[in-house]
Amino acid sequence: MNNTFTLAGVMGWPVSHSRSPLIHNHWIHKHDLNGAYGMFPVEPAQLETAIRGLKALGIAGCNITIPHKVNAMQLVDWVTPLAQRIGAINTIVVQPDGSLNGYNNDGFGYIQSLLEAQPSWQANAGPAVVIGAGGAARAIVVALLDAGANEVRVINRTRSKADEFAQEFGPFVKSVSWDARQDVLADASLLVNTTNQGMHGQPPLDLPLTNLSKQALVSDAVYIPLETPLLRDARLRGNRTVNGLGMLIHQARPAFQAWFGVLPDADEALYEKIIKTI
Ligand code: NAP
Repeated sequence: MNNTFTLAGVMGWPVSHSRSPLIHNHWIHKHDLNGAYGMFPVEPAQLETAIRGLKALGIAGCNITIPHKVNAMQLVDWVTPLAQRIGAINTIVVQPDGSLNGYNNDGFGYIQSLLEAQPSWQANAGPAVVIGAGGAARAIVVALLDAGANEVRVINRTRSKADEFAQEFGPFVKSVSWDARQDVLADASLLVNTTNQGMHGQPPLDLPLTNLSKQALVSDAVYIPLETPLLRDARLRGNRTVNGLGMLIHQARPAFQAWFGVLPDADEALYEKIIKTI
């Protein structure tokens, strides 16, 4: 253990539900590091003051969560080209000169979670169907394109947002109407729910899977509950499924590395620890 104490945390409003402290403190203990990861509940009106205070407080950086992911991007000094395309940041790293760098690791986390569940997964294996067009969808669509997907079908309740995706992200992204959502499943190799539907307290995603190929991988960004009604339906008809917990854990890994200097593993003990809280 060295003498430098490293402090990081998660900034959001509210943040009390966040599993990020559990994740990062697990790795701090595992790697015998001198540091801690806390919660920074910051209301929107205080966001700029809080972000600008990171350096003065000697904090290594922080994760950024709801509702700050978009606004925080304007408040840092440099944003990676990837985060710029996504249009939001989920991580800030304070640089040695005090400047602030912004990153978005959500898409990385998503792809890693797929590969963990199915190491042979390939983005170009067939069309991907993405339900939703919010922040999580932006990170996932950009990550799928960067991984080599050549057709991503975006379906959103509010069609105009799906249309914007197609315009913004280029010819490999196609907007499909909500009413046609069942009709574009037959040849899909990947289906992902990025809406809040199926989350605890929300109704299930309204998407019958009758047309979906049994070979398709079905994933959900939601991780509370761990098995959403969508994933349950998919599992019962024989599809391989991936829940949202892997995305959450894997997005944390590069941020931890930037602050604490170690790239940690998404180990079994960590999954078990978090699952106990769900
Ligand atoms: P967001 O930006 O607010 O987007 C919400 C999306 O859900 C929009 O596409 C919205 O469609 C859709 N939606 C809401 N109510 C709906 C309904 N009744 N029927 C159909 N669609 C509906 O939220 P977000 O940040 O993308 O987060 C979405 C989900 O992903 C949340 O459950 C969040 O917890 C999860 N997430 C997980 C991770 C992870 O690490 N596992 C990371 C980020 C987010 P409209 O445009 O029509 O409103």
